Amino acid sequence: MKSGKINVKTENIFPIIKKFLYSDHEIFLRELISNAVDATQKLNTLVKSGVAQVELGDTTIEVVVNKKEKTLRVIDKGIGMTEEEVLKYINQIAFSSAEEFLDKYKGADASSIIGHFGLGFYSAFMVAKEVEIITKSYIEDAPAVRWKCDGSPQYKMEQHNKTERGTEIILNISDEDGQFLDEYKIVDLLNKYCRFLPVPIRCGNEKYWDKPEGEEKSKELERPRIINNINPLWKQAPSGLTQEDYLKFYRELYPMTFDEPLFQIHLNVDYPFNLTGVLYFPKVKNQMEFQKNKVQLYCNQVFITDQLEGIIPEFMQLLHGVIDSPDIPLNVSRSYLQSDAAVKKISTHITKKVADKLEEMFKTSREDFEKKWDDIKVFIQYGCVTDEKFYDRAKSFYLFKNIENKYFTFEEYKTFIETLQRDKEGNLIYMYAADVDSQHVYINAAKERGYDILLFDGFLDTHFINMLEQKFEKTRFTRVDADVIDKLIQKDEVQVSKLSEEETKKLKELYDNSIEKEKFTVTVESLSEADMPVILTRNEFMRRYQDMEKLSGQKSFYGAFEHYNLVVNSNHELASQLLNEPNAEKQAALTKQLIDLALLSQNLLTGEKLSEFVKRDLLFLQLQK
Ligand code: ADP
Repeated sequence: MKSGKINVKTENIFPIIKKFLYSDHEIFLRELISNAVDATQKLNTLVKSGVAQVELGDTTIEVVVNKKEKTLRVIDKGIGMTEEEVLKYINQIAFSSAEEFLDKYKGADASSIIGHFGLGFYSAFMVAKEVEIITKSYIEDAPAVRWKCDGSPQYKMEQHNKTERGTEIILNISDEDGQFLDEYKIVDLLNKYCRFLPVPIRCGNEKYWDKPEGEEKSKELERPRIINNINPLWKQAPSGLTQEDYLKFYRELYPMTFDEPLFQIHLNVDYPFNLTGVLYFPKVKNQMEFQKNKVQLYCNQVFITDQLEGIIPEFMQLLHGVIDSPDIPLNVSRSYLQSDAAVKKISTHITKKVADKLEEMFKTSREDFEKKWDDIKVFIQYGCVTDEKFYDRAKSFYLFKNIENKYFTFEEYKTFIETLQRDKEGNLIYMYAADVDSQHVYINAAKERGYDILLFDGFLDTHFINMLEQKFEKTRFTRVDADVIDKLIQKDEVQVSKLSEEETKKLKELYDNSIEKEKFTVTVESLSEADMPVILTRNEFMRRYQDMEKLSGQKSFYGAFEHYNLVVNSNHELASQLLNEPNAEKQAALTKQLIDLALLSQNLLTGEKLSEFVKRDLLFLQLQK
């Protein structure tokens, strides 16, 4: 038996490790399993290259929980270590890194540094009061050794009679970390971190139902519980994969999600960095479906995180799937990841790949792309309003949809409305509706002039329009109900009023007296005889502010000024009729009725006001008899 003192200046390294790593101490398991996987893969490489002449056999890594003995063991059949190697790798290298780590990160966010500095193995001391290593190198005559350390710089080392190649790490779990003696907890952690590691990992047995041969009934049986899929789809060549394979993998990733993704992008980059992965496009139609934290970040198939804020652009977080890169530093904190140059490059690259894919889909099958459009529109809009570079790519394949469900690119649409929808100042006016049913009256008026109407019913549309107005030259977007139709696109011709100045004044007074002044502004305009007698409009910009406020969940400031314009058509037959009505009571009732009709067309007539309207209408019908 050999005992010695690990050569460190700092005596109290373990308490520090414990303290620093406390918040995240479950990752000890990931560290130990990663080491076991590395050791197995190293041996694999040596065997393949002919350096090691050993029979690989079954290299499944075993994780064994023993509640009674209060131990957790991780056993691999990998490369193992000789006595010298234990001294070198466990006593010296790991420890000097631990010291380096402490020197460098005194007081800093140090929980981020393990692994990065080879502290992986020592993270075991976060949960164990004593750690043992029993290891036998693949080298034939090298004797097995047992190393033991209780968390002080003192260690013990002796030969051991282990005959099987590989390493067994035994953790004597501390009393306060008893949760790690629960097999289900361990299985949970393995599922989280190790689900796609390339070497099989077993933890205990699982029960299942089956009918053994020759027996009548199904029986509950047991089999080894293998945690991981060692060949996850993103590591396979896309050429050998079918759409069904991608869907199957999606279900494996998100067993609790029932929606199917629309399509996916398989990432496979060798240069200037290494990156593999698969990103799925989910259907995103409304705000409720915004589900972040679905993209999982891996480093060589080891799960790192699914909290990707600041790591990939926000809109990319709407996607689902996996990104795997050995260039992403493992075990570092989010703030470190966010500022890491490699991570930034990766993020830009992924965004570019996504734009490439969308463009390719648009070019290869416009029809198919249009079918998917409504479900990917929000994602693309989100990308455009938050990422200039993405907008520059998307502007060639972004699709406007009109209320007849026809799709147009920006260029196509511009050409389409060029002649009819220019106002006298030369501005191109894009007209839109947010709801075909409730804005029917206004849509009809626009259609009668031959104008085309886009459908903007998405919750990001207002933001998007604001952005487009900055990008497009001499262009305005206006909702169909923002003004009377002939003012939305002002041409040269002016209608002459049939009323005298005095009559006009009188008419305005009549309406002013019948309406809430805080909410409505009355104007009398000479419109076409065929237009409605009274039209309710809503200022485009005020409305947009309100939409944006609603979206951001702000307390409404502009909402307090929900304001409408009541436009009275002086050329409508009913205008003169109203003025000529000798019975003042009847005149007031008729005015109210006309106002209510306008309110109805904006869906503003409800409750008691609606009942009053109906009653009045019945009265008018009776009077006409
Ligand atoms: P890192 O894995 O980052 O190098 P660790 O502290 O986790 O740092 O491990 C230190 C070294 O100990 C490893 O590089 C490896 O050489 C050796 N080692 C750890 N675990 C094993 C194992 N299960 N089998 C063989 N060698 C191991």
